[in-house]
Amino acid sequence: MDTTARNAIGAATAIPLHGTDDAEKITYYANHRLDHVPQLTKLDPALLQGIRLAALVFPFKVNSYVLDNLIDWDNPEGDPIFRLVFPHPDMLQGDDLARLDRLHKTGDASAVAAEVMRIRDSMNPHSSDQLTNIPLFEGRNVEGVQHKYQETALFFAKQGQTCHSYCTFCFRWPQFVQTSVDKFGADDSAQMLDYLRAHPGISDLLITGGDPMVMTTRRLAAYLEPLLSSEFAHIRNIRIGTKAITYHPHRFVTDKDADALLALIARLSDAGKHIAIMAHVNHWRELEPEPVHQAISRLRKAGALLRTQSPILRHINDDASVWSRMWKDQVELGMMPYYMFMERDTGAHHYFGTGLARALSIYQEASAAVSGICKTARGPVMSAGPGKVHVLGRLTHDGRDHFILSFLQARKKEWLNRPFLAEYSETANWLDDLNPSGGENDFFFSHDYRQMTMAGVGAETHTIKSAGAGA
Ligand code: SF4
Repeated sequence: MDTTARNAIGAATAIPLHGTDDAEKITYYANHRLDHVPQLTKLDPALLQGIRLAALVFPFKVNSYVLDNLIDWDNPEGDPIFRLVFPHPDMLQGDDLARLDRLHKTGDASAVAAEVMRIRDSMNPHSSDQLTNIPLFEGRNVEGVQHKYQETALFFAKQGQTCHSYCTFCFRWPQFVQTSVDKFGADDSAQMLDYLRAHPGISDLLITGGDPMVMTTRRLAAYLEPLLSSEFAHIRNIRIGTKAITYHPHRFVTDKDADALLALIARLSDAGKHIAIMAHVNHWRELEPEPVHQAISRLRKAGALLRTQSPILRHINDDASVWSRMWKDQVELGMMPYYMFMERDTGAHHYFGTGLARALSIYQEASAAVSGICKTARGPVMSAGPGKVHVLGRLTHDGRDHFILSFLQARKKEWLNRPFLAEYSETANWLDDLNPSGGENDFFFSHDYRQMTMAGVGAETHTIKSAGAGA
């Protein structure tokens, strides 16, 4: 079994791979081993060469479970999971593909590496701006923590900053390759625990990544078990963001420490913590294999509640029937649909983005096709700098069309529960593309938000360093 892989351009950093002790034999392929993926011999040679070049720029890693169980190799280009894990040449814009191809053919590795870095830095790697939300505590940045909304802190364990396979759309792509953006993560929970101890207003801790479920159970327990102490009674909800349920379901079923993982969840749950598994599911096809059903069932029996989320993505799930089926299947399996996100303005967003208008109509059509208990996903939602903005609908008033928007989460509590209007647009992809209705220059929160970002002072409980989008 392969246990490590290296990014061809980020060759100095080994990519840690989970699975050394898996009962199920899993093989991993990163970009330097792309040509070892057995199924790729079926591809058109020109497409394969384009994928090779795109995989120099975008993170690429896939495991044999995904290759063998989730992709229809008779029609890979039309397959949503193929698009989900294999970078496509169309993800590169303008002349980038041709220039990269020319340089690649010269065999000049350092020129290729420089071009790859140039392209990556041109794709807005700062968009999610993870540094934005790092809290300052006792004069220091809290390593590996983000705190944007009052009740919720995020923790990025260093060992969880990779995934069982990478998604081509991922807004955290700069975490997985070399760019000018600093990596995020901490390998010690002491500072995070000090911060939580001093902030009784935080009720939710979200363990995120990458995918925290690449960590061994022992490592995960070291981060989570201290929360059982009475000094952390205010941490009522432990959320774990993961795609392992569909990228590596054996993590919860047959991996050597799967039983220990379920026992850890049961221990936390029995102690009164709400364990929320935030499952990334982009297409109902991911839910079909039997090991996924076993993984979900075991997590539920251990006391976890599973919620699901995904961005809406061209080439993958920009179809109302995909969403309605996905929500129905999730509810049947015991998962609660939670979010339909908008793709963020980073990486290959031109390739995946649907635009707000189309996303709204897909959401509405999908929602109309399911029963009440399947209508629990909020969408479309933008995780923007000022907060999570929900596109509630379209309104025609005085002969003009408008989007109805509202904050689900906000940097200031006063911004919540205050629906506002923006001019309807067929082309807008993001909050920044929208104009307030009624001829105003600014939305009601814009002035405050500008002041906050200029002053570097964030939402009520903590200090931020600059403005931007975030978790
Ligand atoms: S599993 Fe999640 S964090 Fe990892 S690449 Fe996919 S979307 Fe990004």
